[in-house]
Amino acid sequence: MNCPICEKPVSFTDPEMPFCSERCRLLDLGNWASEKYVISTPIESSDDENFKPDFDADELDLEDAE
Ligand SMILES: [Zn+2]
Repeated sequence: MNCPICEKPVSFTDPEMPFCSERCRLLDLGNWASEKYVISTPIESSDDENFKPDFDADELDLEDAE
């Protein structure tokens, strides 16, 4: 079979099967992670918007008190 990342032939006995190397396995993981990131971006960014103003206000308050 071939590595799904670089399409090099991979032996069935390869410990990183179906990838030819750990690097390609990690690359595949990275692909999954970035797909997940794209899907969850709207949720994360709205979460961020809720969190950030709170944090900023806190910091401003501290600076104001000085
Ligand atoms: Zn590969």
